[in-house]
Amino acid sequence: MLDRARELDAADPLNGFRDRFTLPEGVIYLDGNSLGALPKAAVERVHQVVTGEWGEGLIRSWNDAHWINLPQRIGAKIAPLIGAQPNEVIVADSVSVNLFKLISAALKMRPGRKIILSEPGNFPTDLYMIQGLQEHGLAEQRLADRDTILEALDDDVALLLLTHVHYKSGAMHDMAALTKAAQDAGALVLWDLSHTGGAMPVDLNAVEADFAVGCGYKYLCGGPGAPAYAYVAARNHEALSQPLSGWMGHAQPFAFQDDYTPAPGVDRLLCGTPQILSMSALEVGVDLIAEIGVDRLYAKSQALSEFFLECLSERDIALELVSPSDSSERGSQLSFRHENAYAICQALIARGVIGDFRDPDILRLGFAPAYLRFEDMAEAARHLAEVLQTGEWQRDEFNQRTAVT
Ligand SMILES: *Cc1c(COP(=O)(O)O)cnc(C)c1O
Repeated sequence: MLDRARELDAADPLNGFRDRFTLPEGVIYLDGNSLGALPKAAVERVHQVVTGEWGEGLIRSWNDAHWINLPQRIGAKIAPLIGAQPNEVIVADSVSVNLFKLISAALKMRPGRKIILSEPGNFPTDLYMIQGLQEHGLAEQRLADRDTILEALDDDVALLLLTHVHYKSGAMHDMAALTKAAQDAGALVLWDLSHTGGAMPVDLNAVEADFAVGCGYKYLCGGPGAPAYAYVAARNHEALSQPLSGWMGHAQPFAFQDDYTPAPGVDRLLCGTPQILSMSALEVGVDLIAEIGVDRLYAKSQALSEFFLECLSERDIALELVSPSDSSERGSQLSFRHENAYAICQALIARGVIGDFRDPDILRLGFAPAYLRFEDMAEAARHLAEVLQTGEWQRDEFNQRTAVT
């Protein structure tokens, strides 16, 4: 398989992009869906921002280095990756905080309706943000399994909130169909694109989605804790109102008025001062992912995961695949169920194959297509097969639950 992998790498049009990332020697990194790798250009850029723009420019850099426009500028660069217009996306805060703003905005736009509909097992923060608003009497959570979501849509539902690609299983929702069904029921729709943006194309405008949020530090390679992005369809800009009415979301922040007047469009999603250092690193990741192109990234991620499965079956490894077996129904990851998933994951990490474990029994392998090779697939499959076939995972050191991640 290694020979075939090398042939596939030689023919891979994205082959050259691996060199644009820093990857440690001896590591096969299958966790880019949790923290994307470091683009080499980010080192230089952050250094320049710290020493030049901050060190030398000081306060002048808000204007001279255009810090003040970073949230809009990076938002406009993310927009084409998710099928949005440049003025529909802004970079700010975390996914969690943006969920709070947009769930609140949706409730305000649907007076008389309080239900936020989601699915059990959605990413915890998505559910927790609903529950926080529920605790304050502003929302009511309703959860329905994937196959019953349509039936759960009634005229009490203000908002359907779903994660497009499930963080644990990698299963993808039918965004067009669910958006339409929710809107037909009079509800608004908010998509969490954390495992979508930068890994595969998605067309928010085409499906007429109302709102979306997404993560900066996963496939966009923005660095640990990179700010998130938020999308609001242009038709909702007028009605958009969110309770974190901070001064940066004011129409004229530097007029220092006593009364809040929201800035136009998505600018009113800003709250406090933007995180300039983090945003500067994020911009490098976004530029690089945009240069490679989400269509090519998606095609390669499908090819990588298919090849990985082939390598496993070649080695007679039959693990229970939790992700959809049809690559067109999943995101850029493969998840396997095994009662000893934790120990298997630890044994792989000890061999330099970094994937992750999701409680209670999921081994999750992410295939960030920008920097992984087919050779990595063949090697990772070999390591996984050896860990299982030798019983290496049974060693004590791999069975003591310690760290998170
Ligand atoms: C990673 C992830 C988040 C992260 O939220 P933060 O508030 O930025 O930490 C949110 N939703 C999903 C689906 C994720 O996978």
